[in-house]
Formats: sequence, structure tokens, C-alpha cells
Amino acid sequence: MRVVLMGPPGVGKGTQATRLSALLGVIHVSTGDILRDAVKGGSALGRKVRTFVEGGKLVPDDLMGDLIEDRLQKDDASRGFVLDGFPRTVEQVSILDRALRNLDVRIDHVFVLTAPEDEIVRRLAGRRVCPGCKAVYHLENKPPKSAGVCDSCGSALIQRSDDEEEVIRERLAVYAESTAPVAGTYAERGTLVEIDGHGDPDAVGARLRAAIGAEGDRA
Ligand code: AMP
Repeated sequence: MRVVLMGPPGVGKGTQATRLSALLGVIHVSTGDILRDAVKGGSALGRKVRTFVEGGKLVPDDLMGDLIEDRLQKDDASRGFVLDGFPRTVEQVSILDRALRNLDVRIDHVFVLTAPEDEIVRRLAGRRVCPGCKAVYHLENKPPKSAGVCDSCGSALIQRSDDEEEVIRERLAVYAESTAPVAGTYAERGTLVEIDGHGDPDAVGARLRAAIGAEGDRA
């Protein structure tokens, strides 16, 4: 099963992609996580992308193309994947089409999660993440048992530098300008299914599962 999960920053893509990939027994490919790890590790890629990621701007398509092709060619992607954060531009749709053609596979579902903008800003500003195991918390909705400490692995929780208010606004603007047209492209192809991302993660997860069940497995 191969799924693309789209939606604005803060809509719950990462949480739902983690759950969906576990449910389907396929890998979760978060381009944001890959880039943040590269920045943290100080690799050549990390040095090239740092200013884009920290400023909430899109990393150039040529770098993203190399990254996604490499990732999808790995053995663990052969059973399928949930793509979280890619494609984010219309050019990246073409890059993904080409990568899939080379692998001789196709996407089964393209979902876009939606939520009102005020809910998105509230979710992002309160989000705290674990740099160790990538678990996601929220100061109000899902606080850790012990303040500032990850329940799962004990690491100190951090606020992503791009979750500061000024950068949140930039990321939402980038989404409207560059990524919303990606949803338009899939809608024109008739493959886009909109999922209401409002409410708690269990409810949203149930909507996604129903959409997969209702449409059947076309793999
Ligand atoms: P995310 O965790 O998906 O919100 O991504 C965090 C940041 O990584 C984004 O604000 C971009 O700077 C960068 N990024 C992630 N995926 C892409 C992509 N497909 N194209 C360009 N930049 C990306």
C-alpha cells in the first residue's frame, strides 16, 4: 500500500502518518524528519538545507528529488510507504511520478487533511517534540506525564525552531502558495480524498481508516 498524506503544517500529518504506517505495516517517510536529522547531524545535505528548514521555506526541488528517489529505492520501501511532507510543489509531483514509474509501482491513495487556520496555529505553537524518538506532545492537549520529558524515551522535549509564531506564519503562506496547488493537481486527476483533520487524533484516524476501507485496496 502506498499513500500520500498531505495537508498544511500542524494539521496532524505526522501523527496520522505514524499511525497509518503502523496499521498498514509499511514505512513512514517524513521528509521533514529526514531533513531535520540531516541538519542535526551536520551532513553535507544538512548544511545545504539548514537555512530553508529553520526559516520555514521550501528546500529546492532538485535536492528534494534526490532525497526522495534515494529513500524510495531502499529495500524497506518495497512493501509500501506513507509519504508525509512530499510532494510539496507541483514540480515534486512530477518528480514523484517519475520515481514511481522507475520502481514500477503506483500510489493507492492521496489524502489531504484539513483544519481551520486558528486550530492549526494553536496546535503548532503548543507542540513539543522528542528529538530522540520523534514522539509529539502538546502543552494543552497531550502533555507529557512529567513536564518537558518524553514519556517513551526520557529525552528532554524541544520546541521545533520552525514552530515559533513568525515562522508558523511563513510556513502557512508557503503552503497556500506552493503546496495547495499540489492538492489541485491530484484533484484534477481524480485521486484526491479530503479528510476532516479537526478534532482528536483517534477521530481523524478513524476517518482515514474508513476512507481506505471504503475505497478498497487498489494495490
Ligand atoms: P515538516 O516537518 O513536514 O513540516 O517539514 C519541515 C520543513 O522541512 C519544511 O518547512 C521545509 O523547510 C522542509 N521540507 C520538508 N519536506 C519538504 C519538501 N517536500 N519540499 C521542500 N521542503 C521540505
